[in-house]
Amino acid sequence: MAESMLYKKKLEGKVAIVTGGASGIGEATAHVFAKHGSRMVVIADVQKEVGQQVAKSIGLNHSAYIHCDVTDEEQVKAVVEWTVKNYGQLDIMFSNAGIFSRSDQTVLDLDLSALDHLFAINVRGTAACVKHSARAMVERGVRGTIVCTASIAASRGAFQKTNYFMSKHAVLEPVRSASRQLREHGVRVNCVSPVVVASPMSYSAFGMDAKQLHEAFEPRSSLKGVALKAEHVADAVLFLASDDSGFVNGHDLLVDGGWLDTNTTVWR
Ligand code: NAD
Repeated sequence: MAESMLYKKKLEGKVAIVTGGASGIGEATAHVFAKHGSRMVVIADVQKEVGQQVAKSIGLNHSAYIHCDVTDEEQVKAVVEWTVKNYGQLDIMFSNAGIFSRSDQTVLDLDLSALDHLFAINVRGTAACVKHSARAMVERGVRGTIVCTASIAASRGAFQKTNYFMSKHAVLEPVRSASRQLREHGVRVNCVSPVVVASPMSYSAFGMDAKQLHEAFEPRSSLKGVALKAEHVADAVLFLASDDSGFVNGHDLLVDGGWLDTNTTVWR
């Protein structure tokens, strides 16, 4: 049998929104969604030029860039409404936009203004995306899927970067509550939790370029011979977004090669 006949597209005809889709994990996921037959992948981000470039590289028949700052609920609502109006429904929300902590804060020197800013994107943004995508799915009787990006930082206390760790713990709650509340509508809600991934976020967090980050982290990888890439996370998101995970709901899928199991320290 030809290889092409064995290859099964997992999201045939689906309409998806990817927040933070202009870069890193979101960009890789947008490409994987398109490769798996999504009818439309909407890139919702604040980076116009790179976002448009991602949509163009996927193909403008199957992707579009829309400006959306997830801190503004009205913008999140507008992207969901625009998507439903133009493509009939919303099947998948990948709520992934996020930022990292800019300083090494412990609880003793917690900068609450910085915490507010981080929470506005990582937590409030997630809440708005879950709320408005769920409404669109429930109102139209769509048995959709919502996937959020948390982190291994959601499963441990922090030695530093306290505000980021707090924010990622606070991504788990909307996933857990929404998964309970929406199951009666057939809508599943899950999250992925990666360890350090090569992306513009980690390049700036560790002050390294892609090559330096690879050289620093590959030898320390929890899985011998494998360095975590955005594409690995995208494949995990694909699993949660597709019927392959048809009975998985309220789950935090670690994408860490077993790292949390073997490490009690995080960034120390
Ligand atoms: P990235 O910086 O490459 O991508 C993040 C994207 O989010 C960017 O395109 C950015 O423009 C967008 N964004 C930021 N603020 C926004 C806002 N207010 N509204 C809309 N879009 C906004 O980083 P990444 O590594 O791909 O991170 C994606 C997600 O993965 C984040 O939630 C991050 O916390 C999480 N994560 C990353 C790592 C890692 O090591 N890179 C590990 C675990 C979890």
